[in-house]
Amino acid sequence: MQQPLASRTRDLLVGLLTGHATLRAHLYNLGLAEQKNCRLCGEEREDSIRFLCHCPALVLKRYKSWGKMFLCPRDINKVKVGSLSSRARPSSGMSQRNCKI
Ligand SMILES: [Zn+2]
Repeated sequence: MQQPLASRTRDLLVGLLTGHATLRAHLYNLGLAEQKNCRLCGEEREDSIRFLCHCPALVLKRYKSWGKMFLCPRDINKVKVGSLSSRARPSSGMSQRNCKI
């Protein structure tokens, strides 16, 4: 049986915000993956920050939901957890990459 969407979205958000999502960098640290590079772009470490903020394969999705092609971690810190789930849906649009890790 599959979890309801709201529950799955909540679990995904908690995993991404805590760094315990089933992304390769975390799985690699647990000895459960052989690589930690991104499955989407292959270029970088697949962890929460890169996935949410910098992965070039997610530029369009980020732009539609955040209005920016790239995010800074502080962009996410400013948002309340309750409103993050609404950003998971396709929507809005605007800006550019202007921060460094
Ligand atoms: Zn990537």
